[in-house]
Amino acid sequence: MLILVSLFFCWLIFREFRKEKAFTNFDRGYIAVLVVLTLLSAWSPIRYWRFESFLTNLASEIANRSDAEVHCNTPIDAIFDNAATVAGHATIETGRIVLQYPLCAQLMDYLDDPHSVTKREKYSAIVYVHEVMHIRGERNEQRTECQAIQRLFRVGVLLGLPFHIAKQDAISYFKGDFKKHPYFSSACAPGGSMDEGLPDSTWVGIMD
Ligand SMILES: [Zn+2]
Repeated sequence: MLILVSLFFCWLIFREFRKEKAFTNFDRGYIAVLVVLTLLSAWSPIRYWRFESFLTNLASEIANRSDAEVHCNTPIDAIFDNAATVAGHATIETGRIVLQYPLCAQLMDYLDDPHSVTKREKYSAIVYVHEVMHIRGERNEQRTECQAIQRLFRVGVLLGLPFHIAKQDAISYFKGDFKKHPYFSSACAPGGSMDEGLPDSTWVGIMD
């Protein structure tokens, strides 16, 4: 939507340059205002497009498939999304991941300033990793969540979180909110049947 608004302002600017008359000071001021409005309306779509590309590239790498695609729903997308009540969903067959509005904004806020974030913003990271685990081929929700937890620390670092915050927040999720999550399983623990023994697993090095 905003990109259409931006294109409309571009058209107004273009229209000014097509007029065959010298610019008055008023014209120059008007064009300057239009340029500012164009940049303001284009900023958000461009920011989201870059973030989606970043998440897509990372998902491709983690899931080891070149057709991975991450889409951040806008509020308008959410209206037409049949699964609008869940934080994210993935289609194993196509590799497409949809992150529900406003999860991408929450994830961006988390990565921009990981020192002062809400619980909800931190939770956005596990949702992303969970959906990436689905496009690796896992359908069972408990196993998917457990695979995501084990990779939450490593993916946090790949997303750009400082090493110690990625570790601390991943452990905090595993020891805290995960216990109340619908996909909780007691087998998802160090030495449990869902432990994949990853060398950089979230729970490597923790006592308990
Ligand atoms: Zn799931």
